[in-house]
Amino acid sequence: MDGLLYLDHAASTPMRPAAVEAMTPFLTDCFANPSGSHRFARTARRAVDEAREQVAAVLGVLPGEVIFTGCGTESDNQAVTGSVAQRGGLAVTSAVEHHAVLDPVLASGGVAVGVDATGHVDLEELAQVVRSSDAVSVVSVMTVNNEVGTVTDMAAVAEVVRREAPGAWLHTDAVQAACWIDLREVTPLVDMLSLSAHKFGGPKGVGVLVARSGASPAPIIRGGGQERERRSGTSNVAGIVATAVALAETDAERGAEAARVGALRARLVQSISSSVDAHETVPGSACVPGVVHLCFEGIENEALLFLLDTEGVCASAASACASGAMEPSHVLAAMGVPRGIAGGALRLSLGHTSTEEEVDAAARAVVSSVARLRGAG
Ligand code: PLP
Repeated sequence: MDGLLYLDHAASTPMRPAAVEAMTPFLTDCFANPSGSHRFARTARRAVDEAREQVAAVLGVLPGEVIFTGCGTESDNQAVTGSVAQRGGLAVTSAVEHHAVLDPVLASGGVAVGVDATGHVDLEELAQVVRSSDAVSVVSVMTVNNEVGTVTDMAAVAEVVRREAPGAWLHTDAVQAACWIDLREVTPLVDMLSLSAHKFGGPKGVGVLVARSGASPAPIIRGGGQERERRSGTSNVAGIVATAVALAETDAERGAEAARVGALRARLVQSISSSVDAHETVPGSACVPGVVHLCFEGIENEALLFLLDTEGVCASAASACASGAMEPSHVLAAMGVPRGIAGGALRLSLGHTSTEEEVDAAARAVVSSVARLRGAG
């Protein structure tokens, strides 16, 4: 990544060297299919079993409650679509979910509940929606929002769901949470939880779905019956081994990293907003340390991203390009951010390789690019 200022960790964070090291022998030497019966297969199977135990320990669940999938999107889809397929009834979610949850909920005829100006789900509306439905199959509310970084009070969500719809399964998309939140505090509150390895230093192509005992979403991939009939397909042994190592390392470093990255976040916001006019969409107190979401009024984020890219800054702005026109993100729209402001949205996200030098250089690039686009530079 020489010459690049990488501030897009929420999109994907670099693999941890220990994870690369752990996976390599399973790509080169021990490549056997773990479903086989010979000793070579048994070695691969043992590695998957150990990885499952390691992941379960970090999440505070039983190994049998951990299902390895092909990505976070698949885990989310199984939690929603698999729950509706298994038991019928309504799927309910929040309006700011990742499309991996929102789309299957809406495709099943489900409901998306509104949020407040900081992106927190409206608990009154959630209570009303689940109370007025005959049967709620699943409620899915994300632990951390991928676009603006808002942290959900999962205990408050669980309290509403258990009170108003005691039969519903509660799922949380914790894909953006693993780096910042101790998930042992979340798993006792929910029936299902989704993770994606490439967001915490593991490889792309591995997801985790935790299905606590009592929750049995139907498989959405059927075939060879792997993962105890819950997710078919030959196990990605190398990826699963690396996922467990990355998650364990992330867990061990979380406290120190949250403090270090939180300080970088504050420095980044301060250096940008002391030089140019910027709206911080969600304050640091309501959001994870790794996400800074800013809106620059009067600027098109496409133009800003283009200028930043020429300066080597990797950032993102979650907008969907629909029929040639840039549409503001569904997250900002649900939060009530006016279109004129949302059009100038920029997400800078930090992670385990972020440094002070990188943050300072990125801040300078943002300030000069914004000034240039506003005609002052
Ligand atoms: N959920 C959230 C909150 C995400 O941020 C992402 C990825 O950006 C996903 C789900 C999808 O994960 P994956 O990239 O592994 O499919």
